[in-house]
Amino acid sequence: KRSETLNIKCIRYTDKLRMIIARDVSRLIKINRMHTDFVANVSHELKTPLTVLKGYLEIMSGHREVTDALRRPIEQMSFQSERMQLIVDDLLYLAKLEDRESHFEREEVNVTHLVNTIVESIQPVIEKKRHKVKLDIDHNLKIIGSQSELHSAFSNLISNAVNYTGEQGLIAVRWRAIATGAEFAVKDNGVGISPVHIPRLTKRFYRVDDDRSREGGGTGLGLAIVKHVLHRHNARLEIESTEDVGSEFRCLFPQSQLINDMMETQTDAS
Ligand code: ADP
Repeated sequence: KRSETLNIKCIRYTDKLRMIIARDVSRLIKINRMHTDFVANVSHELKTPLTVLKGYLEIMSGHREVTDALRRPIEQMSFQSERMQLIVDDLLYLAKLEDRESHFEREEVNVTHLVNTIVESIQPVIEKKRHKVKLDIDHNLKIIGSQSELHSAFSNLISNAVNYTGEQGLIAVRWRAIATGAEFAVKDNGVGISPVHIPRLTKRFYRVDDDRSREGGGTGLGLAIVKHVLHRHNARLEIESTEDVGSEFRCLFPQSQLINDMMETQTDAS
């Protein structure tokens, strides 16, 4: 079956005249799909070899007969294969999010529970960096969507705030109703981002500072995942940041994607 996609724009020409421009974008969509499929196939093909490499490295690292001279190279190989695994997992996850036919859950997502689970799971890093985390969560406000996808998106935003903030930073997480629906915001007083980078941040593998990202264990795919997850929830991402001052990442959800347990919402600061 051949499907055609047209991109149609209507432009005001004069008071009475309008100009309609129609562009056949079928080829563009086909190329994009081939690109996505290729990345998904390569990631999938890398899974098995990577599992074998990691398995042998694990055996070698605990082996008595390994000489001292080999310990460091084996350690490095294990570390890098772990990183490769994270990249492959993130790429496969992105491919799943991009696949329009992939199943989309519509469950009631409890944001309070989600945020608590995320903060708990990264507690060791928070403690190590002696950060202060402030939660300001509306317990009655729930999202209709996929629990696991939202977990992934919110966890990427909170982990980024923790990673890109120097010691004793302040990370504020906010979930509240706004005029157009609700916002989930993560604010930090970390390294910040210069305005030139902001429009490109959600592109795959785009990093402001390669070394800093790798040091923090980043794959460069976190914000691309956030963007796709939000798109699937009819939500969008807003980024506000000042270099050396800090950043705020806001996820804006429309009313149609929300459930409010109580008419009067109450905000709880902890
Ligand atoms: P990474 O795995 O590198 O963190 P992301 O897609 O999550 O990849 O983020 C892309 C880039 O955006 C990061 O490499 C970093 O330069 C920048 N960035 C993301 N979050 C923050 C933040 N809270 N503060 C400063 N820079 C950030």
